[in-house]
Amino acid sequence: MINSSPIDETQVLLGLSMGELEEWAQLEGEKSFRGRQIYDWVYNKGAKHLNDITVLPLLWRNALEGKGVSVGRLREVNKLISSDSTMKLLLGTHDGEVIETVAIPTSKRLTICVSSQIGCPMGCRFCATGKAGLERSLAMHEIVDQVLSAQEAIGRRPTNIVFMGMGEPLLNIKAVLNAIRCLNLDLGISQRRITISTVGVVNTMPTLAELALEYLGRVQFTLAVSLHAPNQRLRETLIPSAKSYPIEKILDDCKHYFSLTGRRVSFEYILLGNLNDQIEHAAELAKLVGGFQSHVNLIPYNPIDEEDFQRPTMKSIETFKAYLQRSGIAVSCRSSRGLDQNAACGQLRRQYEAVN
Ligand code: SAH
Ligand code: SF4
Repeated sequence: MINSSPIDETQVLLGLSMGELEEWAQLEGEKSFRGRQIYDWVYNKGAKHLNDITVLPLLWRNALEGKGVSVGRLREVNKLISSDSTMKLLLGTHDGEVIETVAIPTSKRLTICVSSQIGCPMGCRFCATGKAGLERSLAMHEIVDQVLSAQEAIGRRPTNIVFMGMGEPLLNIKAVLNAIRCLNLDLGISQRRITISTVGVVNTMPTLAELALEYLGRVQFTLAVSLHAPNQRLRETLIPSAKSYPIEKILDDCKHYFSLTGRRVSFEYILLGNLNDQIEHAAELAKLVGGFQSHVNLIPYNPIDEEDFQRPTMKSIETFKAYLQRSGIAVSCRSSRGLDQNAACGQLRRQYEAVN
């Protein structure tokens, strides 16, 4: 059984489990241990092409290549490292598209921010990715590759994976869940260290819960919901899709998700200066999510060219955070890393496209 991709790439090995590779090797007329060899070279030894797997008979490698079988690795197009060591990778796909991946190393952690789509159709006003619309969704192996490529570029094993790069993961649920399964079982990354971020797509949260239980057995990853506003009116001015998915319905779906999976969702809130970062917004937000015993992650706005939203001041960030804490809400604030390399979601790819 070969990993089918939405982009008509014939046969890709990356993403297959040990059992699937053994079965496939046998279907190809070889012994099952050939499948185990491929598994080891693809996941542990960094093989990018069939010809890198020198333990395989040359004749077989050539025959497979002739049939269009490939490892399915992406090509590194560009790599940028900012002064705080945040690394942005641009990875080229076989159909000429470019995927953006960000690696954020600290002394204890290596967080990889992966994309789930090329572009995004949701059109959030503050987001660079949303400005260009959707090109296509990523195949499972293109998601897994981002983690392998970032790991190779940094030279360390990742500790955390966040689906906070380009795209809306809940519009590509099956590939995202298959990628999580592979990251977990084949790359040894605990589900507990994986976060999916969503702006909310009508009717998809229950599907995510059901498919996650089916594909992964149990749900241990975190689902983070990008709320960004404490009321429907303000949310609609920032997120076009909010009109068809009222905030109350989102919160109902969060409760339903918890009942299906046993996992509380967390919330993300982008702080836009003088727009949603005032004390009255904090008070409204505290009321809205207070009953959820959830974590709120504050994200200071990172300016993009197309809009003139303001960055929040340090003082407003601190006041907002303190208000939530006083209301008994667990809150963290994402530090603005990699600003000098256009860290905001989608900025790097758009800049690359503008000059190429
Ligand atoms: N589509 C999903 C996941 C990708 S976006 C979602 O929206 O949740 C990942 C995160 O990047 C979101 O929380 C989003 O709010 C944030 N983001 C997008 N543009 C940003 C900007 N200009 N500054 C700061 N954060 C931004
Ligand atoms: Fe898409 Fe997320 Fe950007 Fe909104 S914030 S346009 S959902 S990637």
